[in-house]
Amino acid sequence: MDLYEHQGKELLGCMGVPVPAGRVAFSVDEAAAAAEELGGPVVVKAQVHTGGRGKAGGIRVVDDAAGASRAAADILGMDIKGHTVGRVYVEEASDIARELYAAVVLDRAEKRPLAMLSSMGGMDVEEIAREHPGAIARVHIDPLLGWSDYLGRRLAFESGLAADLGPAVSEVMARLYEAFVIYEATLVEVNPLAVLADGRVVALDCKLTADDNALFRHADIAGMRDVSAADPQEQMARDRGVTYVKLDGDVGVLGNGAGLVMSTLDVVANAGGRPANFLDVGGGAKAEEIVQALEVITSDPKVRVIFFNIFGGITRCDEVARGILTAVDQLRITLPIVVRLDGTNQEEGRSLIAEAGLQNVYSEPTMTAAAERAVALAGA
Ligand code: GDP
Ligand code: MN
Repeated sequence: MDLYEHQGKELLGCMGVPVPAGRVAFSVDEAAAAAEELGGPVVVKAQVHTGGRGKAGGIRVVDDAAGASRAAADILGMDIKGHTVGRVYVEEASDIARELYAAVVLDRAEKRPLAMLSSMGGMDVEEIAREHPGAIARVHIDPLLGWSDYLGRRLAFESGLAADLGPAVSEVMARLYEAFVIYEATLVEVNPLAVLADGRVVALDCKLTADDNALFRHADIAGMRDVSAADPQEQMARDRGVTYVKLDGDVGVLGNGAGLVMSTLDVVANAGGRPANFLDVGGGAKAEEIVQALEVITSDPKVRVIFFNIFGGITRCDEVARGILTAVDQLRITLPIVVRLDGTNQEEGRSLIAEAGLQNVYSEPTMTAAAERAVALAGA
């Protein structure tokens, strides 16, 4: 789960990372009031789950409350890379001398956290990495040993920072690592980590991604989810406890087991089609779960056909067939459904489907044949 900048900064602030004072605002009036309260020049920043807001015009430095209200009027409702701005963060302006880049990410390949620091902050980190690969200092952290101050000093030294910045920057790196661990994040990124004219080092931006699988331990973070910004299908899936990832094609895919669903996406693509989603109904799926899953899939207006790929092990094909028939009846599904039932009780499952004689439900004996049929029906 991605947090907004203001939420991430609130968490970093609690961890002892210096952040400027700020207030979140959902309207022009709230933005003006926030600027009034903060006093002096402020920055009005679009809050969206994407970067590059600066370049898109979503960040404005203004002198006073009147300026803040004009900036908020321009920024609220703005579209930034497909995200509509619903809130702004009004923050006391900082007098920036230098912009650094700092981050702690989960390095899955190395199976441990990776801390990064660069003196070339402010711009896209992908660009820094491509054009100046040596400009990002990196250290891996042994999760059992945790952070040690020498790691921060090494990062500061390897990024070529002057000795006088070393202590403040290393201190921030230590706090970022602590935040990464305590909040169970997969990413804590601060770009820019600013060195101010008076020498203070402050986090001016924050991207924090919390691990969804750990959210049950962090009610405060889970409560930060902005339901209005969530994709409607993904939100619906979350409410129903369905494992679902939205994709952008038109073949709705449903299978039992993550591995099987992944290969189903491949066979659909191989047959020339485009999957609309990933949906795993899990082992031993019962009728009720199939109804829930189909409700999520059919709520996506792009879906033109549904491909059921079931390999029965613990899951019984007759149980799944009953679930499909119940769902088609309850949800009055008219979209074509292609079913491949293989494994435990396959004969019973297939004959249930055949006996029902539904015009829009097709049975295929193999995964490839079913994929081809589904793709043909999507194009029809
Ligand atoms: P992003 O473009 O979405 O990554 O948004 P950032 O929060 O990183 O802001 C982009 C740029 O806006 C920063 O690199 C700064 O140059 C500028 N900026 C952000 N906050 C301030 C501020 O308080 N004062 C000044 N002068 N510039 C700021
Ligand atoms: Mn940034």
